[in-house]
Amino acid sequence: MAQNPESRIVSRDPENLIYAFSPANPPCCEIAPGEAVIVETQDCFCGQIQGPDDLFEKVGWDRINPATGPIFVQGALPGDTLAVEILDIRVLSPGVMVAVPNMGAAGHRITESRSMLIPLRNGLAHLPGDIILESHPMIGVIGTSPKEGSVATGTPGPHGGNLDSKVIAEGSTVYLPVNVPGALLALGDLHALMGDGEVLICGVEVAGTVTLRTRLLKGLSLPCPVVETEDAVYLIWSEETLDSAAEAVVDKSASLLAQTLRIRDEEALCLLSARGNLQVCQIVDPLKTVRMEIPKYLFKGNYPWPT
Ligand code: CA
Ligand code: CA
Repeated sequence: MAQNPESRIVSRDPENLIYAFSPANPPCCEIAPGEAVIVETQDCFCGQIQGPDDLFEKVGWDRINPATGPIFVQGALPGDTLAVEILDIRVLSPGVMVAVPNMGAAGHRITESRSMLIPLRNGLAHLPGDIILESHPMIGVIGTSPKEGSVATGTPGPHGGNLDSKVIAEGSTVYLPVNVPGALLALGDLHALMGDGEVLICGVEVAGTVTLRTRLLKGLSLPCPVVETEDAVYLIWSEETLDSAAEAVVDKSASLLAQTLRIRDEEALCLLSARGNLQVCQIVDPLKTVRMEIPKYLFKGNYPWPT
């Protein structure tokens, strides 16, 4: 989408970056629902990796996984749901990937630390091995403040956060809980490309800009972060193990489907078992994240939110 020159821009300046979602973070700006906003984000290393000599071991941990925000959404109150429509994602070249011994899903195979720059040109990512892939920009971290306490931006949870789900991309809408007045939305950790699992421990990490527009669903609470795309609704859940995350997301999906369609639990489970797709988001963060893909036609036009 063409960016409206009058849209408000939230810069990626250090004073607009947070490293934990918390009600204690002062808002960096205030927006109205319906207003298009351009949010600049840093990459997950906060720009500390500029070349192959900048190894992960040298990166300052106090500057990992910055999220831009928090953005105060006018009128958002606890018990509402915040819908965030992703209008546009642009990424800056180059992207970065790191291989680090004993990190990621198969870190024992990595004998020496490497930082790799991934040039991005004309929508294509130039990966090691002379492999050129189409980029599919997505948002790794997007969330609202928890009711109390603080959750590091590297951790996913019911508030969203480090969901690392590739369906959070241009054209999708992310539904997040409002736990505190203003919701305190923040986002970052863009990936030019990421496969389900994020097995190395990173996607193609990039800085970039996200154009978004929010909408408030007053008095609606959903059981977990939800993503809507053109064809499907995804429920997202994180737990310490993939097994427990999978069982929880099936449970929440069955409840939502049963309530929305006014059918019995076992009937909702029939639909999920016949046509739902349980998918892995990532297996390398402090909690593992899965999503349940429910094709929209199963809702027969009765979405859990007003359309
Ligand atoms: Ca991430
Ligand atoms: Ca990342």
